[in-house]
Amino acid sequence: MGEVIKTDVVIIGAGPIGLFAVFELGLLDMKCHLIDILDKIGGQCAELYPEKPIYDIPGIPVTSAQGLIDALLEQIKPFGAQYHLGEMVQTVQKIGDPLFRVKTDQGKEFESKVVVIAAGGGSFQPKRPPIPGIEPYEGKSVHYAVRKMEAFRGKRVLVVGGGDSALDWTLNLAPIASHLTLLHRRSEFRAAPDSVNKMTALVGDGKIDFVLGQVTGLQGDNGQISKAIGKSNDGSAFEIACDALLPFFGLTMKLGPVANWGLELKNNELIPVETSAFETSVPGIFAIGDINWYPGKLKLILSGFHEGALMAQKAHRYIYPDKKLVFQYTTSSTSLQKKLGVAPAPATAPAA
Ligand SMILES: Cc1cc2nc3c(=O)[nH]c(=O)nc-3n(C[C@H](O)[C@H](O)[C@H](O)COP(=O)(O)OP(=O)(O)OC[C@H]3O[C@@H](n4cnc5c(N)ncnc54)[C@H](O)[C@@H]3O)c2cc1C
Repeated sequence: MGEVIKTDVVIIGAGPIGLFAVFELGLLDMKCHLIDILDKIGGQCAELYPEKPIYDIPGIPVTSAQGLIDALLEQIKPFGAQYHLGEMVQTVQKIGDPLFRVKTDQGKEFESKVVVIAAGGGSFQPKRPPIPGIEPYEGKSVHYAVRKMEAFRGKRVLVVGGGDSALDWTLNLAPIASHLTLLHRRSEFRAAPDSVNKMTALVGDGKIDFVLGQVTGLQGDNGQISKAIGKSNDGSAFEIACDALLPFFGLTMKLGPVANWGLELKNNELIPVETSAFETSVPGIFAIGDINWYPGKLKLILSGFHEGALMAQKAHRYIYPDKKLVFQYTTSSTSLQKKLGVAPAPATAPAA
């Protein structure tokens, strides 16, 4: 375990609402660390529908979901938020008034006066493939995400699946693995056609193998896999020697560890908040975006943006209890413009 990371605000979830919260908090001089279980930024927009058009972001008649995330990242650049991706927040513990200790499943620890839960529908979790006896290998030689590519250098890797993750990791790990096999139950893929073409070219060049079929069992010792037993579509059995199995069977959303943080919950899936600052039942812990509930709540991106703005006003009181907050517009405040790194508009010369 490394040193405890001390910051003003820990934001749990790097979806669109967590990202915009960085902007609102940054304008009021609060520094943020964002943690997300996914290995990329953007929440549902980036994970579930990156290419779909969105038509109801105020002032933007149409953008793609990924386009919105890219624009948000550009907008919050001046505030230097730090990202911790591929990490699930496991515990949020109250250690002061308010002061919180936040711990991730990767052993990182944070300390902050304010915690913002922007965890959407909860954590994206991998679907477990229906392979009997897979549990003892999980986390040792069966992995549902690639956290460090180097961990697979020189290994015999078996990737299973036909979607974008399976194809992306096939292409990325092929040069690193000593041998790579892609296994899929059909010859059609859901992945981007460009990735499928690249994979087919690697197979054609003899650089990787592609096998049609399904994994039905695993063999190995002490969590270390040595071979996967498979079944072809014609019913014949086969074996693939491997040191690592990477099944990509999609993701489901579950509330996950949020349920154990001592917060009041509605129907065991949403966090009730008051509507002046979107604070939870624990002072100093806020919930914004899809994860919260209040009468009339709409699970829309624009609602979460509004919630982030009000949350930041109250968060300021915890971080700077002695400072008076003066309401300002970005259009006219030179101090806000300095924070954004934009030059103030030149003064108009008086008419002669
Ligand atoms: C197909 C589709 C189309 C949509 N179209 C529109 C639209 O046109 N307009 C609109 O306004 N809305 C639309 N939405 C809804 C919109 O995407 C959501 O309202 C928005 O994504 C909510 O943002 P969020 O940041 O609150 O949560 P999310 O986008 O869900 O992000 C939450 C993040 O928190 C992370 N997380 C959760 N728990 C933990 C944990 N314990 N530790 C670490 N990380 C955690 C998750 O991994 C996730 O990345 C659509 C949704 C879908 C599925």
